Amino acid sequence: MTRRKKGVHLPAELTILTRLSQEYGHAEPAIAQAAPDRFKQPVAEEQWRRLTRELRENFAAPDRKRMQLLATGIREGLLWCDETMDRYCRLTCPGCRDFCCDADGIYFDLADLIYLLVLESDLPAGQTRPRRGDPCRYLAREGCILPRMCRPFICTWYLCEPQMALLAAEPIPFQKKLTAVLQLVRRCRQQLLALHEGQAAANR
Ligand code: SF4
Ligand code: SF4
Repeated sequence: MTRRKKGVHLPAELTILTRLSQEYGHAEPAIAQAAPDRFKQPVAEEQWRRLTRELRENFAAPDRKRMQLLATGIREGLLWCDETMDRYCRLTCPGCRDFCCDADGIYFDLADLIYLLVLESDLPAGQTRPRRGDPCRYLAREGCILPRMCRPFICTWYLCEPQMALLAAEPIPFQKKLTAVLQLVRRCRQQLLALHEGQAAANR
């Protein structure tokens, strides 16, 4: 069963994302972030510990209730996607010759960390890689060792060609639901970041 609101198809069990989607119009949210993301790059372990310690120590949620709603909505969406994404990986990854987890450009960004901080979860022990060209530190023989809700969002947002083909073979209503959930999660992350950056700018 789905609820339809403003063209968005969402699974009924996603109550928080549904509530958030009902607030949104079609315009993209204004993003306050102007500074380059200092987290989203290869970072050595010691520097990562310093960066994340500073972020945690200086973290002040300007609108904690709103940020908690957004972060909970993000987690809800990621958990909902998990079974399908894992199934796609089981079907496509074992035979893959161009492993995306080894690709450069996959890093935790500030929004990933703010989301974890708002949920009072542990921050990742390290960036995905300390140097360009290194494999992701979270990749094991059996796949990613991080639960989906703690991975960089790009790891869920990105569907490679074989996985896009699997999605295209699903019933149309399911394709729409999955796409809508991922887009809403993306939008919640943008809002979370905008709230955090607005506060960061006010503190400067
Ligand atoms: S997600 Fe796609 S590109 Fe990445 S390892 Fe699996 S099959 Fe390969
Ligand atoms: S965090 Fe996990 S899914 Fe993302 S690149 Fe690393 S091993 Fe792959």
